[in-house]
Amino acid sequence: MQTQKSFSMSCVRDNAGKPENINVNVEVSVLFHVEYGKREFEADMDNFIKVHTGQMKSKDTPGETAKIPYNRDITKWVIGSKPKPDFNYFKKITSEFLLRMSEQLLKEDPYIIPYSEYCKELAVEINIVNGLLRDCAAQHDNEGSSPGKMVIEISGTLCSGRMVLPQYYLGKFDYSFLGLQIMKHEFRHQVEDMRKLYEREYRAEDKLEKWTDAKEKKGFRKGLLFLYTALADTFTEGIANFCSREYTQKLFINVGWMRDYAEELFKLATIEDKAEAREFLIQWLNVEKGPSTYYCGQMMCFFIGLAIAKKEKRYEQTIKIYPPGKEPLMALAGTNLNDAMNSNKAFNIDNIPVEIHKETVALLTEKIRDYRDFIKKYESSCKTLGIKEDNMILDWRTFQNIKKEAIKHYQEFVKDRDDKEKIILASMLR
Ligand SMILES: [Zn+2]
Repeated sequence: MQTQKSFSMSCVRDNAGKPENINVNVEVSVLFHVEYGKREFEADMDNFIKVHTGQMKSKDTPGETAKIPYNRDITKWVIGSKPKPDFNYFKKITSEFLLRMSEQLLKEDPYIIPYSEYCKELAVEINIVNGLLRDCAAQHDNEGSSPGKMVIEISGTLCSGRMVLPQYYLGKFDYSFLGLQIMKHEFRHQVEDMRKLYEREYRAEDKLEKWTDAKEKKGFRKGLLFLYTALADTFTEGIANFCSREYTQKLFINVGWMRDYAEELFKLATIEDKAEAREFLIQWLNVEKGPSTYYCGQMMCFFIGLAIAKKEKRYEQTIKIYPPGKEPLMALAGTNLNDAMNSNKAFNIDNIPVEIHKETVALLTEKIRDYRDFIKKYESSCKTLGIKEDNMILDWRTFQNIKKEAIKHYQEFVKDRDDKEKIILASMLR
């Protein structure tokens, strides 16, 4: 069974302002963690089959098993057909699939390897873990990754449900099941990780955490701990989601989610209890629907892309919005987009063309250094598009207000700290 694959690929790397062609050797390995073994796999298979044959309700299966959306009729393959797939089959299909997918994704993305600076070698490690234990479907492992190494964790349950089961019953590879999107999203985190975009916010969170835990002052707003992580996530999760939707035809504009986002950040900044703040972050800011970092960050990237498209007049005819029950409208003409946001709760919009998408990713990767730059660029893009402030997800003035409120409160509690510590904390909250 093949669990490793090596190949070399050429890419362009920036060498002190000059583009340089380099060849990089890549080795991808798929590793099976003991925590997702034969027993866990078989239990998952039983659950899947029960769900798809109506013996069990989707909501009664544990965690991820229930979350996996099938938009195709897998049931008719499952009923009355072959015996269940075994664990060896699971390992074979999972490795084969992920090796193939990784090569494709690395070759498609112009940034993952160049941002693994100065390395002529890149090791990609994909660990199949127990997602139920870790409470995740897939993630980029920041701690295990380095410029020459990218570590991704994927839930065995996710692989079973989205790759192994459809492959077994359908008899052919189908990328859309696992959603190349999930992998693309996690791979993209390598770029922002190597750009050190997480570091400062995580450091701030750690420092603040130590300080607030030591003081345990009553009334101190612990939500502040997570506010900066949420803001950093808006950019990093947003761009990862945006990158994974290059080929999506239409996107969903939910005006309510967008308008609520700043309000949610404000609430987070003022929560007193730490556990409550953490829960708030998970419930409201870390899911793919609602006013979440994922959705709103992605839409901020998309609006930046739309503004780039608007500058090139030839797209005016091609990008349309679809207000429910009405004729489609040209999104980039006049104030159409802003008007549609004023008069509809939600509507679809055509994605930007692939070449504009690539241009947008290049801008976000090369010119935007952190979420502050991101907010500014988003706001100026909205102005180009004729979007008014109350339809913006987050503008600079609102960001300043949230920050002001958070810092004002923090300053009351920091009075008795020595000057050095005050300076350290203040610089993190700038
Ligand atoms: Zn992510």
